[in-house]
Amino acid sequence: MSSANQPRPASARAGLSIVVPIYNEAAGLPRLHADLTEVARHLHSRRALDCEVVYVDDGSEDDTLAVARALPAAGLDVQVVSLSRNFGKEAALLAGLDHARLGAIMFMDGDGQHPPALIETLVGHWLDDDCDVVYTAKASRASESLTRRMAVKAFYLLLNWGARSKIPEDAGDFRLLSPRAASALRQLPERNRFFKGLASWIGFRQKRIDYEPAARADGRSTWNFRSLLGLSLNGLTGFSVAPLRIATMLGLLLAALALLYGGKIIWETVVYGENVPGYPSLFVGVMVLGGVQLIVLGVLGEYIGKILFEIKGRPVYFVAEHDLKRDTKGGLEGDVAMHDAAE
Ligand code: UDP
Ligand code: MG
Repeated sequence: MSSANQPRPASARAGLSIVVPIYNEAAGLPRLHADLTEVARHLHSRRALDCEVVYVDDGSEDDTLAVARALPAAGLDVQVVSLSRNFGKEAALLAGLDHARLGAIMFMDGDGQHPPALIETLVGHWLDDDCDVVYTAKASRASESLTRRMAVKAFYLLLNWGARSKIPEDAGDFRLLSPRAASALRQLPERNRFFKGLASWIGFRQKRIDYEPAARADGRSTWNFRSLLGLSLNGLTGFSVAPLRIATMLGLLLAALALLYGGKIIWETVVYGENVPGYPSLFVGVMVLGGVQLIVLGVLGEYIGKILFEIKGRPVYFVAEHDLKRDTKGGLEGDVAMHDAAE
């Protein structure tokens, strides 16, 4: 069915690219693709919106790439971008953003935890309510342990401390960006990418949708405590100078305490003629100062490492192979010609 003769709302003309990073997701991919194809058909017939999906294979070790290549393009265009090795999810998202050919962009996970059924809702907020960034957030964290919830609280507290633009708590990577929001995101030059933060930092009209993520159907999450800690540190140091401020405040606090303590000793010696015991207080003082200095050096080191990483200016990823399969059902005809010409 061709939509060339149907009148379209202005923004739907832009089309929608769905970016899906995949790492060892061979088992669940065909089902996800079938769901996406179904959603794309609905969007095409109900809203005259053309879709493509961009699978970014992030150096999978199983046969994810072969499975992705074999997926049918019936109702939407299918791109498969395969990276030269495993670069991590944030890099895969950037690769998807760089390869997306249509105007609006949707990011979603390839493990089935982001329900495809929600795509129409997000698209609705973009097309009907003119929202630019429609993001999803976990409705509740009740199923998570208390320590994890407290760690998350502390992370966002630090991240948003003194920030002009607050990054919403619990927001996930399942989100839709309107064409102008996607183009804003493309203009950010940094290599150290923390998409959740960036998508909120760019501003425009943001809309939050609460949902309950599905359980992972196949495989298991690639995140463990260490990698989560790494992501959090990256997010923190990439987004906020709060740790540096805390270092300064800690230094001020210690100096103030030392001053008070020194005053007390002088007072006791001069007024009461007391003999102040030397070793213990010296020892404590040296230990506290030494410890704090090392911590602060570590914090500085994190930022210097970030700077080094940015000035080296290396590409965030390398593409090994790139496949484009055009829609066999003709949904995209007109627009693809238009976009190709514009490139
Ligand atoms: N992913 C990726 N590269 C990686 C790790 C993960 O592209 O190095 C993809 C993965 O295939 C999935 C998404 O990122 O589609 C989210 O990963 P995961 O389910 O492990 O994270 P969680 O849902 O636990 O946040
Ligand atoms: Mg997951």
